[in-house]
Amino acid sequence: MTRSLNGRTAVVTGAGSGIGRAIALRLAEDTAKIAVWDINGDGAAETVKLIEAAGGTAIAITADCSDKAAIHAAAEETRAKLGPFAILVNNAGIAPFTPFMDIDDDLFDKVIHINLRGPYLLTKEVLPDMLAAGWGRVINITSSSVQSGSFAQGHYVSSKGGLMGMTKALALEFAPSGVTFNMVPPGFIDTPMLRAAPIDADAFAQTLPMKRIGKPEDIAAACAYLASEEASYITGQTISTNGGRYMGSH
Ligand code: NAP
Repeated sequence: MTRSLNGRTAVVTGAGSGIGRAIALRLAEDTAKIAVWDINGDGAAETVKLIEAAGGTAIAITADCSDKAAIHAAAEETRAKLGPFAILVNNAGIAPFTPFMDIDDDLFDKVIHINLRGPYLLTKEVLPDMLAAGWGRVINITSSSVQSGSFAQGHYVSSKGGLMGMTKALALEFAPSGVTFNMVPPGFIDTPMLRAAPIDADAFAQTLPMKRIGKPEDIAAACAYLASEEASYITGQTISTNGGRYMGSH
């Protein structure tokens, strides 16, 4: 299977850490030029350093990926430096744990704002480039928690469920255009987010069919496939990358 992304421009949000960093590194290895966007500028700069050390091309942009003006400014800078967008990976997110009755309205709004409204704004910003080229890939990082439910994450699961719905709606609307929309819901993946969660990740791993927590590279591999030429007839689909945790068909 050819892995060449032919120097296309990809933006990976939240690529200054964890899963996003691994996706950025993998797409760069597959010859995409990468725009690393993250609210954490130091993390984004570190990812660019890693990509360049491996021989790839990348730029770092510090941006709040839920802020419309910041998204537009980051997109303009990316277009000027790397060219029009061909691949979007909506990965940035936050994942608080709060018992449902303790979720205050502002927190609910914040989670929806970052995890759902952000990808909506991002997609609107970069989709015209893809439509003009008749080729594009939008990959949304959702969560296995949508498939299984998750304790004390009513806000988070609602946001990721919304993103799952948006992926399917846009896959349908833009199916004839050459732009595909797919999603990767990670299971438990070893990142700073997981290690900050109120979960004993290593003990939990023993309850998983594969008896191990996933690696960020496991998610990156699924994204690399969905971004590739070979995935051109796949849209509105889900690659559940979770070590067998959830085996449903959506
Ligand atoms: P992570 O290590 O916390 O990385 C997320 C990155 O996104 C961080 O650099 C974070 O910056 C950044 N970010 C947060 N809010 C942002 C915003 N508004 N604009 C731009 N960047 C922002 O988390 P991860 O585990 O790699 O998670 C990546 C994605 O996978 C998330 O959408 C998450 O919900 C999803 N996911 C993860 C798991 C898992 O087990 N790890 C499971 C299911 C789904 P700060 O650190 O400064 O906040």
